[in-house]
Amino acid sequence: MKNIFLVMLIIFSFTTSFAEDDFTNEVVKSTALTQSLFMLEGAGGNITALIGEDGVLLVDDDFAQMADKLVTKLKELGGGVPRYIINTHFHYDHTGGNQVFGKTATIIATTEVRARLMSEQTLWKKQHPAIPVIGFPSLTFDQSLSLHTNNQDIRIVHFAHGHTDGDTVVFFNQGKVVSMGDLYFSGMYPIFHPEHKGRLDGVVKNLKLILNQISSETQIVPGHGPLSNKAELQKYYEMILDSIKTVRQGIKKGLILKQIQNKGINKKWESFSHGYLTTEKWIALIYSDLFPVIISEAS
Ligand SMILES: [Zn+2]
Repeated sequence: MKNIFLVMLIIFSFTTSFAEDDFTNEVVKSTALTQSLFMLEGAGGNITALIGEDGVLLVDDDFAQMADKLVTKLKELGGGVPRYIINTHFHYDHTGGNQVFGKTATIIATTEVRARLMSEQTLWKKQHPAIPVIGFPSLTFDQSLSLHTNNQDIRIVHFAHGHTDGDTVVFFNQGKVVSMGDLYFSGMYPIFHPEHKGRLDGVVKNLKLILNQISSETQIVPGHGPLSNKAELQKYYEMILDSIKTVRQGIKKGLILKQIQNKGINKKWESFSHGYLTTEKWIALIYSDLFPVIISEAS
């Protein structure tokens, strides 16, 4: 039953057109990370909010239909309509609010995210037109950007070719709070999108780079899933490495996908299985990524 619920939840999170979806019962939940930083959970990807005298900064902005509820929550927390918005990547469950808040907020994203939002994209086998012009990011960067507001030196860093080509990670408080976007699905197998130039080896590389920049006290806001920390991210990283190792060994032994799936990966990773990506599908995803490389190495 729980799995069915998860499938529905995740499918709703990843498909649009949302116009026909009913957001009436969705709420925005907040968790305080520091006096001024909050993790917000609505209908789409997780949001990080920095609230202070200089105005509100958001990392990601959910679906457009959640904008009013989001502002109500920000007001409850002492803020108001956002002044700055950072898009961690273009997926519509993270950028829907752009078309509402773009009238007044400066929207910041990588060059890749802006380009994708400005043109038709395919996500989960569905075509999505360009978003309205008002929602286009107005400030773009290629590698990194620093933003100084509300007594914070915020580092906004491009980690390319993990979940998508335009992934951005945001570091607050010298790395004590980090917003990772969909580079991190806490407690779940990772998802990467080859159709948006995401790659498994990019996920591995970028996770390692981030692990090197955070401490045991760091609070991590994942793209989806509950608030997390370095120990959990480390476990996630090890799970990915171990899964890759198992599948690689299977391919090298000449096993076909079904045989590798039947053998499975270490049982201790089973808790990462979720409605959209079961262990069987996770193995298939790794297999499809590794198989062409191993075959070309062997030939
Ligand atoms: Zn995504």
